[in-house]
Amino acid sequence: MSNRPIYLDNHATTPVDERVLAAMLPYFTEHFGNPSSIGHVYGWEAEAAIKKSREILAEAINATPEEIVFTSGATEANNLAIKGVAEAYFQKGQHIITVATEHNAVLDPCKYLQTLGFEITILPVQQDGIINLSELEKALRSDTILVSVMAANNEIGVLQPLAEIGAICRERDVIFHSDAAQAIAKIPLDVQAMKIDLMSLTAHKLYGPKGVGALYVRRRNPRVQIAPQQHGGGHERGMRSGTLYTPQIVGFGKAVEIALQEQATETQRLTQLRQSLWKELSQLEGIHLNGHPTQRLAGNLNISVEGVDGAALLLGLQPVMAISSGAACSSATTAPSHVLTALGHSEKLAYASIRFGIGRFNTAEEIDRVAQHTIATIGSLRKQAMMV
Ligand SMILES: *Cc1c(COP(=O)(O)O)cnc(C)c1O
Repeated sequence: MSNRPIYLDNHATTPVDERVLAAMLPYFTEHFGNPSSIGHVYGWEAEAAIKKSREILAEAINATPEEIVFTSGATEANNLAIKGVAEAYFQKGQHIITVATEHNAVLDPCKYLQTLGFEITILPVQQDGIINLSELEKALRSDTILVSVMAANNEIGVLQPLAEIGAICRERDVIFHSDAAQAIAKIPLDVQAMKIDLMSLTAHKLYGPKGVGALYVRRRNPRVQIAPQQHGGGHERGMRSGTLYTPQIVGFGKAVEIALQEQATETQRLTQLRQSLWKELSQLEGIHLNGHPTQRLAGNLNISVEGVDGAALLLGLQPVMAISSGAACSSATTAPSHVLTALGHSEKLAYASIRFGIGRFNTAEEIDRVAQHTIATIGSLRKQAMMV
């Protein structure tokens, strides 16, 4: 273990917490029943465990258990929300608003809908990564059916003003969806206070298992309709068919429960680690902090570095730390991060960017080593560049 690089890619995914794993294990073997089997104890056990997770999730966002629809993750939840609303409300209107810095799991379903004739407005962000609320108001039309704005950005950690956006959408009678994959149980979320109608969640950014997530679907004030995107046995009140994966759902609930219990102390600890990392790195010249300095996830630090080649920078850092450049989630492509270019960065600067995702299992010692190695790497790359 000790020879492996320090894991600092916690926005891409996180290890499963041992406590989460322990909660999941009995549901693979002993309590393996199909939660839809209503005639025997095997089914009841599974159903009871799922009910508990549903309650934990609902409470975490101030919803009711009936408003939680389990999915395979946030990608599926985003698809279900966006395509589901488009299909259910197309007679009311065919205009959707989203934001340039959204995850591809939001942007791509919107692009797909465009091919079907929907009109998509993509709002820009300000230099700090936050949307301009008056631009949102201006973009709203009488045929707008959906506004989709994420809670916390997966690259730059920026938190969008959900309550303000929710108030604007509610006043105009427009459904508000938020991708909260990075935010759930890390920042306070309240679908009532924030007037959120649909919210996408996932477990694996929160020390839960991969392959499970949920969509919150508002049932009253107002009742939101979504057309199912997967048909079958009518599970999840017809919105998402398919046998529920009990172990994953149990793990999701446990992960949220733990994160909520530890939210205050963990936020404080991660903020301190991030600040100490930034304090070290910002001593160098030509380093930019990407995203709002305080309106961001506690564990996120994203920087751009002038005067170095992005690929060489990553290569130099990789032996010591597992990190991503800004273009993390689309790392299969060579395009610069759409999030960083949305902040106004040139392609070159966008490439020379590092996303530090500090998580539950990182220590102050590790962050110190990361700071020292990053400073040394940038220094030697700049020296080389000057000698050429
Ligand atoms: C990770 C992530 C997703 C995708 O979630 P999966 O559960 O992996 O499908 C969507 N949106 C954001 C903001 C993310 O960070």
